[in-house]
Amino acid sequence: MHEKRLIVIGAGISGLVSAVYAQRSGFRTLILEKAANPGGVSTSWKRKGYTFEGGIHWLIGAREGLPLHDIWTETGALGPGNPVYYKDPIYTLVDAAGRVPLYRDLRRLKEVFPEDSAAIGRMCFHVACFRHFHPVVLDERGLKVRYPRPFRLWEFIKMGPAVLLAPFLLLRSAGSYIDRFHNRRLRNLLRTVVDPEINALSLIYTLSTFSAGDSGYPEGGSLRMASNMADTFTALGGEIRYRTPALEILREKGRAVAVRTEAGDIPCDAVIISADARSAIDHLFAAPLQERWARKMRKSLITSQCMFLGIGVQADLSSYPRSMVLPQAKPLHVGGLTLDLLTVNNYAREAAYAPEGCTTLTLILPGESYAFWAAARERGDYAQRKAETFEAVLQRLEKAIPEIQGKVQVWDLATPLTYQRYCDTWDGSYMTQWLPRTLTPTAPIRYAPGIYFTGQRTSLSGGLPIAGTSGRITAQAVCKDFGAEFVSR
Ligand SMILES: Cc1cc2nc3c(=O)[nH]c(=O)nc-3n(C[C@H](O)[C@H](O)[C@H](O)COP(=O)(O)OP(=O)(O)OC[C@H]3O[C@@H](n4cnc5c(N)ncnc54)[C@H](O)[C@@H]3O)c2cc1C
Repeated sequence: MHEKRLIVIGAGISGLVSAVYAQRSGFRTLILEKAANPGGVSTSWKRKGYTFEGGIHWLIGAREGLPLHDIWTETGALGPGNPVYYKDPIYTLVDAAGRVPLYRDLRRLKEVFPEDSAAIGRMCFHVACFRHFHPVVLDERGLKVRYPRPFRLWEFIKMGPAVLLAPFLLLRSAGSYIDRFHNRRLRNLLRTVVDPEINALSLIYTLSTFSAGDSGYPEGGSLRMASNMADTFTALGGEIRYRTPALEILREKGRAVAVRTEAGDIPCDAVIISADARSAIDHLFAAPLQERWARKMRKSLITSQCMFLGIGVQADLSSYPRSMVLPQAKPLHVGGLTLDLLTVNNYAREAAYAPEGCTTLTLILPGESYAFWAAARERGDYAQRKAETFEAVLQRLEKAIPEIQGKVQVWDLATPLTYQRYCDTWDGSYMTQWLPRTLTPTAPIRYAPGIYFTGQRTSLSGGLPIAGTSGRITAQAVCKDFGAEFVSR
């Protein structure tokens, strides 16, 4: 132990990853977390016996043998008592004409949509090109590493087809890629996979993780995964202080020397900021940061936002698919959004998620609704608007799932303001949107002496893979700068 004191701001997934690695590498690591639980926006919660999974819907790197999987196992996120379920079909479209499953084997779509056979064949080819494409996990050059990751040239060679195809996919949106299909039901199925506004690479990459047998759901979901990581960290001797927001990073000659909290200043040798960098540049320093990247981030960051609705119903819905796509003949207007699809996750088969004979349903209502909810709060009708949103969605659900009529026992709606209140994310967002033909503004891993960033804003896109890889990269940067050996396991 070299006794350097490291403070990690935030116990979200990126913060936990960097903290586990740093603690194992000999830093005396303290995590300060604003909320009462670990996990950040990747979380689940209970209401009246129903569990609402508000985070992981699929975990990239869940499959053994992938570099990202090593990060999940080394940090305790996935363990032997934490089996992963791989749903197939991924989604099922349910409409008046019946049910259409989207299987992991995309070729099966040709049987249902022969008119789109050629376009499906092209999509399968694109997905096959990405089959061996995955987040690269390497060691920083010049760093002492106890268990070095071997550099496997063939891993890179196998990514060649994806690299060649990437520029073409980065120029167009997922929506325009999907619009090439004639059949509207097929378009609706694919539009559920990713936000149609982001680039087409994200769509193809996501589909490729499914078709390669990755992207599963770990038993116990988000909260279990985050708790596993927090337990791994504390078992190594690390400390987490919940309900302890970091107020300011104190510096001397530019270097971090302490973090201010309501209970006083905590001295340190280095700080990792895993809190949303877009919020941190305005709130965590004596004055808002003015570097070029920070100005760019203020100007052109586009965030992914959603409303999340959890519903507990006294009905057994195990005859319904796990993830249902419900097209809306008349668009639904809620939270300032216009939605023509509703995607419903049905947890009827997860026994522990609801009382016996009952079912938890959840919906992510995607789109920029922050301004709508901020205005509602300002006017004082936030609770009323939430109730209206729930009622409007329920009416649509009752048409597709008549068994739930009069059977709702509990509901809970999280808006972007909820995410902002709990996790201080910018506009209540959970990651950056990577649009076609753009480079998302990002925060640097090394910002200043003893000050580092990690997490969702340090990369072009977001999600758990970025939280995992960036957490490791940042821990390695800290080790290198302090001359410590990086110990991964
Ligand atoms: C509904 C939903 C579904 C999703 N589904 C998936 C999915 O299926 N697959 C996938 O890959 N990704 C998914 N994501 C995205 C993924 O969960 C996030 O991108 C990822 O968890 C972000 O992790 P992070 O560590 O970068 O940030 P965060 O989770 O934002 O963590 C930052 C932490 O810092 C804390 N913090 C902030 N400010 C302070 C402060 N001043 N002091 C102390 N602590 C502070 C916060 O409370 C938080 O715990 C989903 C997100 C949502 C909301």
